[in-house]
Amino acid sequence: MKNLVAGNWKMHLSPREVAGYAGRFAPETANLVGTVDLLVCPSFPALPAAVAAFRGTHVAVGAQNMHQELSGAYTGEVSGAALVDLGVGWVILGHSERRHVFGETDALVLAKLKRAHELGLKAIVCVGELLEERDRGETEAVLRRQFSESLGGAGPALVTKTTLAYEPVWAIGTGRTATPETAQEAHRFLRGLLEKALGAASEGVRILYGGSVKPDNAAELMAQADVNGVLVGGASLDPEGFAAIARAGA
Ligand code: PEP
Repeated sequence: MKNLVAGNWKMHLSPREVAGYAGRFAPETANLVGTVDLLVCPSFPALPAAVAAFRGTHVAVGAQNMHQELSGAYTGEVSGAALVDLGVGWVILGHSERRHVFGETDALVLAKLKRAHELGLKAIVCVGELLEERDRGETEAVLRRQFSESLGGAGPALVTKTTLAYEPVWAIGTGRTATPETAQEAHRFLRGLLEKALGAASEGVRILYGGSVKPDNAAELMAQADVNGVLVGGASLDPEGFAAIARAGA
């Protein structure tokens, strides 16, 4: 299975900065075509510029969130149908900042996942424990709950088409990366949940690691048996650094 190297730009990089980024990142990674899948996820206003800048390249474009309804009186929200209209192919769902800063629940993530699939958007569903949950020895219980309630309810056919991201909350934006062994342990656990839910079809489901991935730790993380790529926040903002991470995944 090819690794997926995905960048979550969060609320960074304005529309006018996107073309410059693409002009540096696409050529840097052109020789990786066929060896690794690449994705960037800009903020909503920068999506049209990103779709235009990466059109015809090997780099896919995704959103960082979407609303579960197709349209309606939801001031300030963005419909998945509008993302499809723009030419966006992917969406991140249940990122820890959505869960813990904006109060998104497993049930909400599941509703968004079902809608994303219905619209033909490829989804990355994020799961991961808080530091206090890890310290209390609850990591597996949290992952099991998030897996079954934000993904499992979608049914095997949809789970097979979903990408999972293990993002321990204590490692996001903190500079404190999980060791490759800690990451692998959680990924192995998630792989077991996938196997139980999907049988042989689980082999095709990627599990990305996210949390302070940098050019100098990406290779050893992706060398782990059950790490099938990375979801990168801060380090994806620098096109050369993100290209180095892409090379590590190739
Ligand atoms: C993220 O936003 O998904 C993330 C993992 O952030 P960072 O790489 O900055 O820790």
